[in-house]
Amino acid sequence: MFSVWEAGQFHRSPHLAVIGGGIVGLFTALFHKRRHPHHHVLVLERGPFPSGASVKNAGFACFGSPSELLADLDAEGTDAMLARVEERWRGLLELRAELGDQAIGFEPTGGHEIYGPHDPLYTRVAERFDALNDLLRPLFGATVFQWDPAALERTGMARLAHLARTDLEGPVDSGALMNSLLRKAVAEGVLFRPCAEVLGFEEGSESVLIRLADGTELHADRVVVATNAWTKELLPQLAVVPARGQVLLTQPIPGLRLRGTFHYDEGFYYFRDHGGGVLLGGGRNLDIAGETTSEEGTTPLIQDALVKLLEEVIIPGQPYTIARRWSGIMGMGPSKSPIVERCSERVVAAVRLGGMGVAIGIRVARKAAGLVAE
Ligand SMILES: Cc1cc2nc3c(=O)[nH]c(=O)nc-3n(C[C@H](O)[C@H](O)[C@H](O)COP(=O)(O)OP(=O)(O)OC[C@H]3O[C@@H](n4cnc5c(N)ncnc54)[C@H](O)[C@@H]3O)c2cc1C
Repeated sequence: MFSVWEAGQFHRSPHLAVIGGGIVGLFTALFHKRRHPHHHVLVLERGPFPSGASVKNAGFACFGSPSELLADLDAEGTDAMLARVEERWRGLLELRAELGDQAIGFEPTGGHEIYGPHDPLYTRVAERFDALNDLLRPLFGATVFQWDPAALERTGMARLAHLARTDLEGPVDSGALMNSLLRKAVAEGVLFRPCAEVLGFEEGSESVLIRLADGTELHADRVVVATNAWTKELLPQLAVVPARGQVLLTQPIPGLRLRGTFHYDEGFYYFRDHGGGVLLGGGRNLDIAGETTSEEGTTPLIQDALVKLLEEVIIPGQPYTIARRWSGIMGMGPSKSPIVERCSERVVAAVRLGGMGVAIGIRVARKAAGLVAE
């Protein structure tokens, strides 16, 4: 039984209910509120704060390593590869302009792909490196990737032979990013409701009835589902599969020379500096079946592989302590493209961000808000 005050301000029927308070959900709510300042816009988030991949990720503000872009080119053709890179690049620029580099902790320390000696991946990339740069130049107005052998020396890493670098990428602080986004959305009038798990919804002719896990119900004019990896529970018809990613972070390492973001082994591993230590993730390819799960958790198989990479390649011979291990769940599927579509008259889905939500989240949200307005 809600009081008149609760019903008037907090439990009132929203014009738009966004389910999921990650980067996509919060930006969607913010953009809708800007279009319709008098609308009541509500974000329903099941965690005590944003609790999905947006606050578990590695914080790479990136648009694709040379090997990834060449693989995309081979799989989908030049136009599709360039269109995807453009989405990511524009997304990064929009994100930085919207929230500010300082607020998101963006560091222009560069993005890197590294290759071992006799690495067939290096041969494949080297053969078409210049051609790839030629394709990308019109979009970026500059040469995107350079070989930078001296950087290998600077970082202090071992067992590597080649390094390709771009100055256009760098790490962000994903916690600061999400906190500043949340504060902005709330400051502009969005109501954020944590600990509000949605069990399901039913669409009627006048509204959508939303059922919450606490037993309460809400009627919304429109709904955007932005639950990414957990979409199957609400929209089982959409092709979204959960994909867990495991991460570890070391304590600060005195004299650490690593700076920027790094992709290794066809992108199966990724690492960066953070707070004077190394943040390292990946290894999903060691157990794809086991990591196709929406349950958080770490496993010895993958954590041991991360430690091996840390000890043998990233900080050889340097003492370290692991400060923290965690996992996050991505939403993936048969295509690398996100799903941003109207599912029915009143329901829009904005999901399946894969491993690129930092770059494309803001543009997925803009499209979702546009679909709601149509
Ligand atoms: C380990 C890891 C590393 C990554 N590294 C990078 C990277 O370096 N760069 C990059 O660009 N991307 C990276 N990603 C991917 C990126 O984090 C995601 O693409 C992005 O965060 C997805 O944002 P989202 O808003 O769609 O989903 P999420 O952030 O997952 O948000 C979905 C929200 O919905 C909520 N929710 C779910 N079900 C319900 C329900 N029934 N009711 C209410 N709320 C619900 C969840 O609690 C969650 O807060 C990484 C992901 C992982 C897991």
